[in-house]
Amino acid sequence: NRSLAEYDPVVAEAIGAELRRQRTTLEMIASENFAPLSVLQAQGSVLTNKYAEGYPGRRYYGGCEHVDVLEQLAIDRVKALFGAGFANVQPHSGAQANAAAMAALIKPGDKILGLSLAHGGHLTHGMRINFSGLLYDVAAYEVSEKDYRVDMAEVERLAKEHRPKLIIAGWSAYPRHLDFARFREIADEVGAYLLVDMAHFAGLVAAGLHPSPVPHAHVTTTTTHKTLGGPRGGVVLTDDPALAKKVNSAVFPGQQGGPLEHVVAAKAVAFKMAGEPAFAERQQRTLRGAKILAERLLEEGIDVLTGGTDVHLVLVDLRRSDLDGKQAEDRLHEVGITVNRNAVPFDPRPPMVTSGLRIGTPALATRGFGDAEFREAADVIAETLKPGYDAEKLRARVAALAAQFPLYPEETR
Ligand code: PLP
Repeated sequence: NRSLAEYDPVVAEAIGAELRRQRTTLEMIASENFAPLSVLQAQGSVLTNKYAEGYPGRRYYGGCEHVDVLEQLAIDRVKALFGAGFANVQPHSGAQANAAAMAALIKPGDKILGLSLAHGGHLTHGMRINFSGLLYDVAAYEVSEKDYRVDMAEVERLAKEHRPKLIIAGWSAYPRHLDFARFREIADEVGAYLLVDMAHFAGLVAAGLHPSPVPHAHVTTTTTHKTLGGPRGGVVLTDDPALAKKVNSAVFPGQQGGPLEHVVAAKAVAFKMAGEPAFAERQQRTLRGAKILAERLLEEGIDVLTGGTDVHLVLVDLRRSDLDGKQAEDRLHEVGITVNRNAVPFDPRPPMVTSGLRIGTPALATRGFGDAEFREAADVIAETLKPGYDAEKLRARVAALAAQFPLYPEETR
């Protein structure tokens, strides 16, 4: 039982280097966050040793009395957080949650209708070589070329044309709210189930700062590590008892074996935190930060899709810029700001290059950023994207911002 540093210094050093990177740079990948120490501790616990196939009170292994307590706590807390009648907290990831939700609702070969990947949808919403595209017959809706928003009349037209068994609402790169009530009406009109994947905006929903899909969707899925700020993982929610049974058997034994009870315990901690006033305040700073970023970039002549944002991210449109997405991502990396390049709808460039950036504020809000710091970060981004940028000066401004908000206690690994 030697410590990691003693037994495997190579691994320990690489983890240490990653911690230094997180501490000294500005993390603005919209899907990332900093899990609190309490979540890291639960996730790094002896629970990783335990097999617990099944569900609380109905396990296929002995010795589950303590993991039962933890998993039931996670279930009860996430149900209360989102006002859902049922929750499965075992999916190892958002992709697993979606795979299970789809397996519960439809059969292989059935038609699904989701937002196209190229227009902000997720891989699991029907991308050709993802399980969703391989197992199901995919039709996709896109954003409108006019205003880059999802046009519900077009969704309705496509739903009537394709008669899908499942409609998926949700996104990985879209800066506005979706009309969940209208999605449900359309689903009902064509006899489809509605699955809402709120992975990106679940933290905003928990804080009451974004419309909740839960009352509208047959099934709602989420990740727990994006705006929610917990451990990497997934959750499936529904209010329908018949669907709840199907979801449970789709997760286990349908998709997974033993649940990651160390992650489930960490989810329980994150759900407790997400119900507290400090979490709502953090989500408010997240939203204000994204609005400040969009405004500052627009003022500097940088295009922002839809002209702003209602959520935790901004989509920069570089089609009129000299820089492509890859060059812009690399340049920001050079000054210490981490973002990801992202295709814009109707992107003329290939997916490995792209003409866009997706920039998010959740991780910096978790670090403690308020309006003034987000304004400074936005100014640094705008200057970095201009010709003749001074990398050294900008790096110093980034370092100063990072130093203002120490991340994790000194001894954390
Ligand atoms: N759903 C959406 C909308 C996402 O954006 C993502 C991840 O980016 C996922 C699902 C998948 O989550 P994971 O990476 O945990 O599989």
